[in-house]
Amino acid sequence: MPDRVRFSPAPSGELHLGGARTALFNYLLARSGGGTFVVRIEDTDAARSDLSRERGLLGDLAWLGLSWNEGPDVGGPFGPYRQSERTAHYAEALGRLEAAGRVYRCFCAAATLEAGRHTDGDGRRPPRYRGGCRSIDSAESRRRAEAGEPFAWRFAVDPEREWVVRDVIHGDVRFAGSDIGDFLVARPDATPLYDLACAVDDAAMRITLVIRGDDHLSNTPRHLMLLEALGATAPNYAHAPLVLGADGRPLSKSRGAESIASLREQGYLPAAVVNHLALLGWSDPAGREVLGTDELAEAFDLARVSSSAPAHDPARLRWLNKRHMALLPREDRVALVAEHAPDLPGAGSRAVAEALADEVEVAGDVRGLVSGVAEPLAPDEEALAALASPAALPALEVALEALRAPETGDLRDALRSAGLPLREAFPAVRAALTGRAHGLPAATLLTFLGNAEAVRRLERALRA
Ligand code: GLU
Repeated sequence: MPDRVRFSPAPSGELHLGGARTALFNYLLARSGGGTFVVRIEDTDAARSDLSRERGLLGDLAWLGLSWNEGPDVGGPFGPYRQSERTAHYAEALGRLEAAGRVYRCFCAAATLEAGRHTDGDGRRPPRYRGGCRSIDSAESRRRAEAGEPFAWRFAVDPEREWVVRDVIHGDVRFAGSDIGDFLVARPDATPLYDLACAVDDAAMRITLVIRGDDHLSNTPRHLMLLEALGATAPNYAHAPLVLGADGRPLSKSRGAESIASLREQGYLPAAVVNHLALLGWSDPAGREVLGTDELAEAFDLARVSSSAPAHDPARLRWLNKRHMALLPREDRVALVAEHAPDLPGAGSRAVAEALADEVEVAGDVRGLVSGVAEPLAPDEEALAALASPAALPALEVALEALRAPETGDLRDALRSAGLPLREAFPAVRAALTGRAHGLPAATLLTFLGNAEAVRRLERALRA
């Protein structure tokens, strides 16, 4: 039977590379095996969720091309797909757990506080519960609740049992019930905490395989306990090692991991980002590195996901982008670069893109290549050095004359026939025109600037 998989983000921040990698593995798994990809929004924490973030998240997934079969916007047979709209499911499950004596009210002040704070599987677990509320008998417990005493619900864990997570990537991982301790499942108002909502939804949505970051591995025994207590079949699990940043620590929203939105703004191609994400932990059996999304879907196999943590290397992402740019028809490459190219005095953004489309690794690089053209930059150290060279003054004078009468020949000929060393003359002219000694080839630079503007800048430099 093809798998039903889900990506279940909390809409509390921007989608970053780590989260997108999890989404991609789910998408590829579904596509490679004719399965179903579900997107579920984990927004039980109202304070940290909002609809514009959800829209941003879905927009990022769509931009990457990771289309889903069921989700909050497209619906599906097991909706709604926003946890905030599924409270009846959780209340029903909590009622069953209570009736079966699997949960109890915890009146400890710390528990009610903690239930308010502790909201999703973010790895920040409180210490194991050692309080005594489990032994309060049920009539007494009900009486205290009815008298208005605040409480939160805890799951009664069997300390004698061992739980084995049979993980597709990590193999069997064992957890002792005695190490886990009775955990909170619902807040005083009976709204569910992450573990309960996750287990209830995975069962209700008939999820057969959970692929998520391995920061959730330690949550899984709790999910197994809840699923069993609810009489549901547990899905299979695949916990992918978290992606590490340059500092060797996992990428995270809170530590400024690069967001998908920012890559889009910089002009990265979605196909290159997807290619890069796929290679974070997975490798192609045929050893290919440059793969389109269709090729990835065909080749993807969880068995080839490594159990050690991959590192995000921005240089490889750039390199892949360059390769994917080269695969585009030139027209498309030019159109993409034109979206990022500015209008310049002597050339419109389209002409700038025509000239530079094959030079850039990432479309947005075009802005850097033409910096100093629209408006000259304050000269940096190299520019000042170029302007101080003995050849600088004569070079600017010769250039000015040549540009005033462009029909009589080009800049290079003029500089050469004046006997000036080109290695000094060009940087000086460039520095006078843009504030930078290095940059575009002189001919391209002059086209972008236009003669009139170039003359104005040279005159100003000579007056200075
Ligand atoms: N909402 C959780 C997160 O964003 C999802 C965990 C899961 O996939 O079960 O980390």
